[in-house]
Amino acid sequence: MPKALLTISAEELLRFRREMLSWFEHSRRDLDWRRTNDPYRIWLSEIMLQQTRVAAVVPYYRRFLARFPSLRSLARARLNSVLRNWAGLGYYSRARNLHRTAKQIIRDHGGRFPRNLAQALALPGVGQYTAAAVLSIAYGEPLAVLDGNVARVLVRLAAANGEIREPSLWKRLADAASGLLAGEAPGDWNQAMMELGATVCTPQAPCCEECPVAHWCRARALGIAGSLPAARRKPKTARVSLAATVLLDPDGRTLVLRDEDGGALFSRLWQFPAVAAGRSPRRALSEHLERSLGVPAATIETLASARHTVTFRDLRLLPFLVRVERLPVVPGARTPLLHELDRLPVSSATQKIAASALRAVQSSRGPRGA
Ligand code: SF4
Repeated sequence: MPKALLTISAEELLRFRREMLSWFEHSRRDLDWRRTNDPYRIWLSEIMLQQTRVAAVVPYYRRFLARFPSLRSLARARLNSVLRNWAGLGYYSRARNLHRTAKQIIRDHGGRFPRNLAQALALPGVGQYTAAAVLSIAYGEPLAVLDGNVARVLVRLAAANGEIREPSLWKRLADAASGLLAGEAPGDWNQAMMELGATVCTPQAPCCEECPVAHWCRARALGIAGSLPAARRKPKTARVSLAATVLLDPDGRTLVLRDEDGGALFSRLWQFPAVAAGRSPRRALSEHLERSLGVPAATIETLASARHTVTFRDLRLLPFLVRVERLPVVPGARTPLLHELDRLPVSSATQKIAASALRAVQSSRGPRGA
């Protein structure tokens, strides 16, 4: 049996919880999802906040709720519409799962996010963290959350060594989180722990003078708070160059395909025809156009390149503009107006390519009235 990470007497634990909850009451940020008990809204915020900062989430959260104010309205919506309202937030599997899960909740749970942990965990895209967050905040279920912020706080409180995501340490952190949980106010408790990690016990420079639980912190006592947790070994970032074609007909229409294979790069959204670029991206592209789309690429214009980073991939986008008399007929493709491309769900990589093409088209027309 591994040794407990935190040992704290019952009496001290009561003080610890009191200090944390009182600090949270006075210091909490006023965020939209903290003004509701609606499990749908809390669930949505938790999904949006995965891998995304609070400030970036707020406008998307508001816009999404204006369009889908209830779980029922989300379940009824078309996937394209959901993805369009997610566009820009990235990690589109979150939006797909959200939509699929909303339908499942309507079908299997009478339209209400299930309160039972096993049922919540059986939903697509709902893991231990999300289930504990929604159930504790919306329903007051005594389940402790453990995310990166909470883990950092716990590691410092215990002055624990090791990489946070290493499974045996993560398990001990989960046990420690459950041991600290204030059962009478689990939602507030979880939010207090996450808030402390996000605003005081921050990764680079923890503000220990402002910390309500500094008295119990071993890392602070040892003067090693700033060097914990141990740095994570990151996988190397892979460099990928991609040549993408913006085909353009005289009406300003372009051609986009649904990216089913290159999922992670364009998130299985609509994208311009693209091919991995070797040493000669122009040639690779022209061969691809002729072979796959039957487009003789005599007039390829080079557009400004752009950088785009997705998880552990540094993507160099090399866009080209190809003006054609008629767009090729490709099964399953769409031919929107280039300047209205954002009506379809597209990734920010595709948005960058479209913006580059639009700038080139506008500058080739010259100034107004010229
Ligand atoms: Fe984090 Fe400092 Fe508080 Fe310890 S005292 S939990 S290191 S902010």
